[in-house]
Amino acid sequence: MQVRKSAPRDRYQAFVRKDLMSLSQFHHLDPDERLAMLAVSAVLPFRTNPYVIEELIDWDDIPDDPIYQLTFPQRGMLPESDFDRMVDLIQRGAPSTDLKSAANEIRYRLNPHPAGQIQHNVPHYKGKPIPGMQHKYWDTVLFFPTQGQTCHAFCTYCFRWAQFVGIEDLKFSSHEADLLHAYLRENTEVHELLMTGGDPMVMRTTHLRRYIKPLLEPGFDHIRHIRIGTKAPAWWPHRFTCGEDADDFLRLIEEIRSAGKLASIVAHYSHPVELSTSVARDAVRRIQDAGGIIRTQAPIIRHVNNSASIWAELWTTQTALGCVPYYMFVERDTGAKDYFSVPLARVLRIFRKASRSVSGHCRTVRGPCMSALAGKVMIDGVTEVNGEKVFVFKMLRGRNPKWERKPFFARYSETATWLDDLEPAFGQDKFYYEDELQALLKNGFRQSVRGGKEIAHCGEVSRARRSV
Ligand SMILES: *Cc1c(COP(=O)(O)O)cnc(C)c1O
Ligand code: SF4
Repeated sequence: MQVRKSAPRDRYQAFVRKDLMSLSQFHHLDPDERLAMLAVSAVLPFRTNPYVIEELIDWDDIPDDPIYQLTFPQRGMLPESDFDRMVDLIQRGAPSTDLKSAANEIRYRLNPHPAGQIQHNVPHYKGKPIPGMQHKYWDTVLFFPTQGQTCHAFCTYCFRWAQFVGIEDLKFSSHEADLLHAYLRENTEVHELLMTGGDPMVMRTTHLRRYIKPLLEPGFDHIRHIRIGTKAPAWWPHRFTCGEDADDFLRLIEEIRSAGKLASIVAHYSHPVELSTSVARDAVRRIQDAGGIIRTQAPIIRHVNNSASIWAELWTTQTALGCVPYYMFVERDTGAKDYFSVPLARVLRIFRKASRSVSGHCRTVRGPCMSALAGKVMIDGVTEVNGEKVFVFKMLRGRNPKWERKPFFARYSETATWLDDLEPAFGQDKFYYEDELQALLKNGFRQSVRGGKEIAHCGEVSRARRSV
């Protein structure tokens, strides 16, 4: 791949909906497209930056350019009647309060929190829920720092869109470093802190350090991995290459390494073009030089990366740069899902074709995988049993770890885009784990205090671990 020299940039600058008018590229779009963009961005979040606009998007290839599709709102992202309603309000010059209340009504119909994220994964400490944390799998605690609830640009398909548009009662985040540390100190089955967001790399390093540094001290020997999930290497690689804060972050990686722990950057790359600039490559090398390991993940998205050749190039490029392909996800059932989703049958075909066209070192990726209520469900294949064509699934991660790697079957479908769209195969009325899942979800919270000691949110999971 040809690497393009990047322009020097030392200051991050965001473009949001109100800046569209001042963007010269916006005025080159035809009037319909501009109106559509204003209508959709009144409902779904929009944010981008000059690096994305000038170095990642090819404006001669609009509207097909993948990064344009990935950051700029598109007409098809809203159901037709909602779209017409927003256009009408804008054309009538309706007051912004009207625009906002119409937008909110539409938002609540777009499944703002898929897979029971809020209700089911919040851990408890001293009998109280800890907001801003999720503990779904026994070994890993997710933390959503308040200062990291945005990104350097928004992906139009993002399942976290609800928090970006500030539907207030749906926000979940925390600035409580003390509670995080108290919880981790007590829950010694946890081996990993996963900082997520938004994007934790929008935070200054001093904030990151406040959460991470205490975990390098005695009392936290069980915390072996610090993972940061981020799209900054793609959206704003300057975060790792320019200025004192970038250097300070690299020092933090070194401190994690010196404490004998893994500093894992899980970078979200959607398309090979995100690795085609010199600054993107510098960012990768600087993180690695400091001792960080970069793993990569992305969902497969229509209009952006739904072809085998794109994935093959993505994995090949990443592997050559020393990054480790980690997850291919299926787009979640939220937001502009209909615009972006790719049927599971097609996802599998793309995955298999991409996988067999790359060499062994590039085949570290797990997936394709749905992050569902029960766990991370991998589409393992399609086969025929007694004349019935079926999907074979397997959980890579289960809310109950005993479910992991046990195959289960659904009747084949060319059009299904999520597990919920499918019927269990062989005439069964549910998948084998469903009763247990319901029981787990119902009982999990009541188990939060046992024997005077707080345990993970999900009693069953903790018990399962203790018995092995
Ligand atoms: C994917 C995920 C993790 C991490 O799982 P790994 O197998 O370690 O990548 C942890 N918590 C939640 C809620 C997740 O969805
Ligand atoms: S970078 Fe991640 S969290 Fe941010 S908008 Fe994209 S998918 Fe969502």
